[in-house]
Amino acid sequence: MEQQLHDLRRQAATELAAAQNVDKLNELRVKYLGKKGSLTAVLRGLGALAPEERPRVGQIVNEVRTELELLVEAKSNELKQAQLALRLASEKIDVTLPGRKGGGGHKHPLTATLEQIKSIFMRLGFAIADGPEIETDYYNFEALNLPKDHPARDMQDSFFITEELVLRTHTSPVQVRTMQRSEPNQPIRVIAPGKVYRRDYDATHSPMFHQVEGLVVDKGISLADLKGTLELFIHEMFGSKVGVRFRPSFFPFTEPSAEVDISCVMCSSKGCRVCKGTGWLEILGSGMVHPRVLEMSKYDPEQVSGFAFGMGVERIAMLIYGIDDLRLFYDNDLRFLRQF
Ligand SMILES: [Zn+2]
Repeated sequence: MEQQLHDLRRQAATELAAAQNVDKLNELRVKYLGKKGSLTAVLRGLGALAPEERPRVGQIVNEVRTELELLVEAKSNELKQAQLALRLASEKIDVTLPGRKGGGGHKHPLTATLEQIKSIFMRLGFAIADGPEIETDYYNFEALNLPKDHPARDMQDSFFITEELVLRTHTSPVQVRTMQRSEPNQPIRVIAPGKVYRRDYDATHSPMFHQVEGLVVDKGISLADLKGTLELFIHEMFGSKVGVRFRPSFFPFTEPSAEVDISCVMCSSKGCRVCKGTGWLEILGSGMVHPRVLEMSKYDPEQVSGFAFGMGVERIAMLIYGIDDLRLFYDNDLRFLRQF
């Protein structure tokens, strides 16, 4: 029996020393020290020994057990250390490696155009005003001198949500909201950039597009202020050589009203497909704020006057970048967007 224990101890020590991982170690612990393990089997055999032999052999069994337990623990620590070392080595960061660069993006041509427009007007002292994209019929039409039966409503094919709610067809409602937020007759100088919606879809129209509305109200504002401001804006935007002309027009919320054209940037006014042979391109609508619009917002047309203008951001971006189909802006095709 002593020889058996001696062999068992030696074999266990050899196998434990060779264990490569925690699973193998656990397997060996069960094999030698478990309830059904080899040492337990030896203990059970004690009964077969002569009574005087039992204490001595029992003591050897306990010594072997203690020794094997210590070996298992030592091996367990060794394996954990090795595992940690391995992990540290594999997760080591080589700070001398060149960095991996993410793909650098750039601004969408519409965003770039809008920012350029804003920056020109901000330099002129304009503030940025904002309003909701879902408007009431009152702000979108009525307060702008467009009562329910007004024929000019037909010029803007609208998305109605209910009888009284509409996706705004222009940024002009922000004019009214700005005046109503101000104390009566207080000076105003704002632009209102934002999304607007109309039921159109072709190469030059999209159901959603962007406008920038402008409004100036103060004592003694005249058509000369309107002309000077818009000419300066156009020359900043398209270059100082571009020609500007004001053409009489009609808008229900301005009187008098004028369309503003620039000389064709595509053909230098020689006449081409883009300008339809005229040499001129319509770029924005403008006019002196209609006295009724001022009155409806508690401004006194006897004391103050103002001018307003509105432009399509897509239209301007198409001219600046030479794009012939407005829908390209929204396709999100990288082959298109990477050109800018
Ligand atoms: Zn042209």
